[in-house]
Amino acid sequence: MVADVRGVPEPGTEPEEPEYPGLPRRVATISLHTSPLEQPGTGDAGGMNVYVVEVAKRLADRGIAVDVFTRATRPDQPPTVEMVPGVTVRHIPAGPFGALDKQALSHYLCPFIFGVLQTEARNAPGHYDLVHGHYWLSGRAGLAAAHRWGVPMVQSMHTLARVKNMALAQGDTAEPDARIRGEDQLVRQSDHLVANTADEAAQLMVHYDADPSRVSTVPPGVDLDMFAPGSRTDALRRIGLPPDAELLLFVGRVQRLKAPDVLLRAAAALLRRDPALRDRLVVAVVGGQSGADVTEPQRLAELAQSLGIADVVRMEPPRSRAELADYYRAATATVVPSHSESFGLVAVESEACGTPVVAARVGGLPTAVRDGVSGVLIDGHDPDDYARALHRMITERSWRDALGAAGVGHAATLSWSATVDGLLDVYRGSLITEPLPVAACQ
Ligand code: UDP
Repeated sequence: MVADVRGVPEPGTEPEEPEYPGLPRRVATISLHTSPLEQPGTGDAGGMNVYVVEVAKRLADRGIAVDVFTRATRPDQPPTVEMVPGVTVRHIPAGPFGALDKQALSHYLCPFIFGVLQTEARNAPGHYDLVHGHYWLSGRAGLAAAHRWGVPMVQSMHTLARVKNMALAQGDTAEPDARIRGEDQLVRQSDHLVANTADEAAQLMVHYDADPSRVSTVPPGVDLDMFAPGSRTDALRRIGLPPDAELLLFVGRVQRLKAPDVLLRAAAALLRRDPALRDRLVVAVVGGQSGADVTEPQRLAELAQSLGIADVVRMEPPRSRAELADYYRAATATVVPSHSESFGLVAVESEACGTPVVAARVGGLPTAVRDGVSGVLIDGHDPDDYARALHRMITERSWRDALGAAGVGHAATLSWSATVDGLLDVYRGSLITEPLPVAACQ
């Protein structure tokens, strides 16, 4: 039952009986470091926020109430916000207001856990049937709550420190040992782990010694109503570009790890190869600064200057999802040259809009993009390789359009509804599986 912070239950908010027996009636979702109410594409808000929002809404549609616990970052945030009927965001005070980097956040785990337990005790005692943690910090908090409430703990890592450390971009700092130890603990003590791709599932087993019977692969999805094909010319007009523009698009947080510099270097190589393109070529980088990479947008603007392509590069602020759909539709290709990517929602959103993707063959991208079918996967980060693929997309229109059309079909296989089906199987299984013994906190 939803209650306000003073512990007064709100009448008539008891969740309906779920559609299927054996499923939880109320899930506590933990998203400590980033709120589902934030605009994705900047700061700590990215694919995980989109995931939490899309899954929570669809669980609520199926009669399963979701409370999302997140850290309060502003004094004016109400303790609870109803995102949609059945989905409540609960702001837990823990540490100073304002953005905190992940290292600092780990110092406020205890007050966060305390806040989660106190909120449940005051407002919804005994109401959560299952905890689902997102990212390792949330997982640590979720484990404590799940053990206290005697309910199953399901964990989605989204990214893994050991894997990230093997693919650092130049100048990036390695993930700390504390995170690796935290992830190790989660792998041992969570009742079930959800991986975004078969590759991530294998990484959990190989690098974290996860028990295969406690790992399920559930791919994320794409909002096929929001991201759908449409007129390229209209989309170009709506984003202020002429009908003959060749738009190369980067969407996401401007981080070294996502390598937007590779796109800029590829654009420079493309113009060396085909100088006549200069009048039509536009490179748009849509997204904001993030985490420790606060200087990255500036670094990128300087790189554009030094490459002599500042006139074709547009640095755009984070855009709403509806606006993004127009960027994808307008683009000749979306470029995802990341050094590491747990899944790559941007790639699938682009495909859903009928625009092919040129991506690095890393992480979840080989799942998100079908090489040679919905886009091109490239080994490594040599800008010339990206330039070659992009030049072919610009000059061989029929090939580019065939990739775009196949991408629409591929994206259609990845709906959020299918993600929720997969998660419900995991939840159902976790509720009937013998719980793991509570191990001592490390
Ligand atoms: N995004 C957005 N507006 C922006 C930039 C990005 O809404 O200006 C969204 C984008 O549509 C995608 C998510 O942020 O859904 C990024 O997810 P992805 O898996 O590509 O990367 P992550 O942030 O998880 O590293």
